[in-house]
Amino acid sequence: MYRSHTCGELRLEDKGKQVKLSGWVQKTRDKGFMVWVDLRDRYGITQLIFDEERTSKEMMEKASQLGREFVIQVSGEVIERESKNPNMPTGDVEILVSELKVLNSAQLPPFTIEDETDGGEDLRMKYRYLDIRRNPVKNKLIFRSKVAMEVRKFLAEKGFIEVETPVLIKSTPEGARDFVVPSRMNEGQFYALPQSPQTFKQLLMVGGMDKYFQIVKCFRDEDLRADRQPEFTQIDCEMAFVEQEDILNTFEDFTRHLIKAVKGVDVTEFPRMTYDEAMKKYGNDKPDIRFGMEFGELNDLAKNKGFNVFDQQELVVGIAVPGAASYTRKEIDKLIEWVKRPQIGATGLVWAKYNDDGTLKSSVDKFYSEEDLKAWAERTGAKAGDLILVMAGDAHKTRTQLSALRMHLGNALGLRKADEFAPLWVVDFPLLEWDEETNRYHAMHHPFTSPKPEDIKLLDTEPGKVRANAYDLVLNGNEIGGGSIRIHDKKTQAMMFDHLGFTPEEAKAQFGFLMDAFQYGAPPHGGIAFGFDRLVAILGGQETIRDYIAFPKNNSGRDVMIDAPANISEDQLKELNLRVTLQ
Ligand code: ASP
Repeated sequence: MYRSHTCGELRLEDKGKQVKLSGWVQKTRDKGFMVWVDLRDRYGITQLIFDEERTSKEMMEKASQLGREFVIQVSGEVIERESKNPNMPTGDVEILVSELKVLNSAQLPPFTIEDETDGGEDLRMKYRYLDIRRNPVKNKLIFRSKVAMEVRKFLAEKGFIEVETPVLIKSTPEGARDFVVPSRMNEGQFYALPQSPQTFKQLLMVGGMDKYFQIVKCFRDEDLRADRQPEFTQIDCEMAFVEQEDILNTFEDFTRHLIKAVKGVDVTEFPRMTYDEAMKKYGNDKPDIRFGMEFGELNDLAKNKGFNVFDQQELVVGIAVPGAASYTRKEIDKLIEWVKRPQIGATGLVWAKYNDDGTLKSSVDKFYSEEDLKAWAERTGAKAGDLILVMAGDAHKTRTQLSALRMHLGNALGLRKADEFAPLWVVDFPLLEWDEETNRYHAMHHPFTSPKPEDIKLLDTEPGKVRANAYDLVLNGNEIGGGSIRIHDKKTQAMMFDHLGFTPEEAKAQFGFLMDAFQYGAPPHGGIAFGFDRLVAILGGQETIRDYIAFPKNNSGRDVMIDAPANISEDQLKELNLRVTLQ
């Protein structure tokens, strides 16, 4: 037996017990006549004591030679500590060691295995197994596991069946590039790794599975912006004989359950907002509604007043920053600089202060009377003490820029509180999205999403106006889930492919299996997928997913610990009948 207890378990009530512990040496304190060792495992830290008066010379020697991260086993008696440590759950006791066994020695770790480590990100990634010993990482992985358990518990109770779908498949268009795998047995041919199990879960519905879920790895070869991973995990779900309403209700309960189970927080409201409304009010299809600062459109109030910077623009729009009327010129200039950075790309900001005494003062006083500015205040919801910030330009671009500023200020003013949860559904997404690069329409969600029946007539004339039965679940400014009601008949699916620029031959070659299946009795169905990594991070009160993944990749898609991707041997290439020629 290696241990009778864990290192996080013993308390004063255990005084007098003979115990056995195993773990890692966190640190030692050697006073010559006494040696203390902090022994760590997954569950906590327990202090060991070696005392010259109560132990052999040989053991004292052995104890003083212990190095950091040695793996040891000890036996001894639980005794009451003379100087207790109230900050540690085990801080009232220590183990008077009678036996010590070194199970494995360790090299000095390249960084300290402490909550506040001296190791930089790169080093910690290279030695991720050491990083995982640290509480901040370890606790996140434990948290992730807890969320996964709750996911399974809830869905199983609701009658969902977990089905695994294959990883070596054919392209599923979720809007990213595929990772591909060469096939040895089928010369010159490649599998694609799933960007999601989308087509399979639909086929499971045709197969009568009715309620499906899977916690599943998905793969997308995208440029890795700050917080993306080339392989990530989804909670993938699909239901048959459902309408949009059924799905929204089911997954509202699901989300409510998770937040309650892992955070103890009751979320009651799941407001719904159309895509158009979200864009107008927040400039964003995933608004953080933990705080206000809704957009106020000022076209009718700000144009044609002689300020021609505004006159020529498609949209003039502002927000009220609570309590910021007291900002100095310098502080406002800083915000102006912030929006002018290339990442945001705005041309500038017009400001108006709604002073505490009720007077108004702006950077454009030459053109606007106090009366005018009062109207701006009303439109943006500004109260005395607030600062109104206004942007103008192309509607979509300006909304996006103002949204970035709103989030920036939300952070700066501490309005995005980690322990508050504000979910909402964004519904009625456009079916199609114009792509400037390829000069054609793409499916905004994916090509299997059903258009709203009443909008189908617009497909030929105004395709950009067609709305989809698609929805996103947004939590604290992040899209945590998205899905749609699917097309379930061959005719509509073929029409959709046609509008997306597929020839009938191309559609058949890529998705013939799905359209065939639709001919054999496909039930109406729909579903949703949650980004599991992000969901866990948000529930954990953080916005970066990396620490919640045991072995993440870096921004260039590399696993620096195992050093992948890597070249493969000539023999392997030969077997695959492939030659690498780098261009
Ligand atoms: N497959 C979709 C996605 O990965 C989700 C869905 O429509 O259920 O975004």
